Amino acid sequence: MTALPKTLRALLVNAILAGSIGPAAIAAAPDRPNIVFFLVDDMGWQDSSVPFHTESTPFNRFFHTPSMERLAASGVRFTQAYSCAVCTPTRVSWLTGLNATSHHVTNWTLKGETSRKSASLLPPDWKREGLQPGDHPTLAGILRDSGYRTIHVGKAHWGAVGTPGADPLRLGFEVNIAGHAAGAPESFQGLDRYGEGRPGKEVWAVPGLQEYKGKDIHLTDALTREACREIEKSVTELRKPFFLYLSHYAVHTPLQPHKPWIDRYQDQAVDRSEKWYASMVEGMDASLGTVMDKLVSLGVAADTLVVFYTDNGGLSHVARGRNILGTGQDTHNLPLREGKGSAYEGGIRVPAIVSWAAVAPDRPLQQRIPVSPGSRCARPILVEDLFPAFLAWSGARKPADLEIDGIDFTPSLASPGDSRRDAPLFWHFPNVWTPYPEGSTTGYQPHSVIRSGDWKAIHFYESGRWELYHLATDLGEKNNLARREPAKLRELAGVLLERLTRTRSPWPVDRATGKPRPMRLPPTPDTP
Ligand code: CA
Repeated sequence: MTALPKTLRALLVNAILAGSIGPAAIAAAPDRPNIVFFLVDDMGWQDSSVPFHTESTPFNRFFHTPSMERLAASGVRFTQAYSCAVCTPTRVSWLTGLNATSHHVTNWTLKGETSRKSASLLPPDWKREGLQPGDHPTLAGILRDSGYRTIHVGKAHWGAVGTPGADPLRLGFEVNIAGHAAGAPESFQGLDRYGEGRPGKEVWAVPGLQEYKGKDIHLTDALTREACREIEKSVTELRKPFFLYLSHYAVHTPLQPHKPWIDRYQDQAVDRSEKWYASMVEGMDASLGTVMDKLVSLGVAADTLVVFYTDNGGLSHVARGRNILGTGQDTHNLPLREGKGSAYEGGIRVPAIVSWAAVAPDRPLQQRIPVSPGSRCARPILVEDLFPAFLAWSGARKPADLEIDGIDFTPSLASPGDSRRDAPLFWHFPNVWTPYPEGSTTGYQPHSVIRSGDWKAIHFYESGRWELYHLATDLGEKNNLARREPAKLRELAGVLLERLTRTRSPWPVDRATGKPRPMRLPPTPDTP
């Protein structure tokens, strides 16, 4: 350290004293950042003490997520981040950079058909087997080939049972801990062996983790320990940059208590399911804190980017109970409408934060990829945008003929005040996720969506209905402007139909005719 200029030396000493940089970081200033992609399952936009809304809500006061607060204080909080409405499409999108209209894995995968039927619709011809090796270059594979150690810990859920795509090692990861075809654990409890050995439930039993099975260790904590072990191995033994995908099974069902976090919620005036859910959220948050502390203790925090994201809107249609508002079904994401599976904001808008694990503006990597601490960004981003962003941060070369839909949002990290996004956002969910009565107007029906600027148009295939909302003035999607703004609706619908046609997106199938039921454009404004 004697060779360093005096001012730099002082800065480093201060950083070490402040705990943001460990001594190991001084020895080598890496030219590529480590990346931790922390993905939570089924966690909603409001399930945090970090407000993503413009105001603090009763939900923000109910949930305790101090590690998310810490991450938000050092980085950029994206208030209009989106995923798909259910698990697998989101996971395929970030790993390939493709929108669901392009990859056609429009529903969650397991064994063959997972879609239901409705009164008039049968499932579309979607990609039921999920993502498979060779379908498309994967981000993990590109990073691996460029010298990153690619680590998968937790829920995979890319490929169906019995297919090569069920194994993360076939999709570009060098390490796979606990990932397979299923999208939920049979149990979160180590004493239940995470579901292993339950007759008839084999598909849901979490694979691996043998040293934790039979012990009183929650699945979230076991995965966190494994993730920290892999981080340490990368840094101290292999001395390679790492890409860690820590993909928690939490906070998906089955809702179960996570000790000791459950204690805080026992006296709250909510149903038992909500106490358990809150303990799972806080347990997940503790995992985030543990990982960040590990990065600090290893001296790599200032050279590691952390992305917090969730894979769909918060579950609210089933399995949830009376919440802190005193209400139940379809109100867990308020003011967002409905929840997981829905075309409305509650189904697709998710919490997202991007930050260096420790702020050190003088570090070369932080000068190359500046992140504005403690800021909010209203730029709409979609989960496939992570692909080009990760690629840009890593410096890995993009394959020459690679075509993706994601748009790199890295400039927003330095300039979060710029909320523009020129390209529209698309969602395509032509499958029946959950039963609904005939004539229902719920957003859980097969649908396609376009968002352009603050306008959002939704087409529902069952009824042929169109809805139009202006999100900047109507976040809760209460005022359907389809009749009042026919020209705007027609404009958006045309762009959406063109997209779906060009990408040969699968249509729902008409039950009466057995033929695809394509999108029908709304009437022209001149039509009486
Ligand atoms: Ca999910």
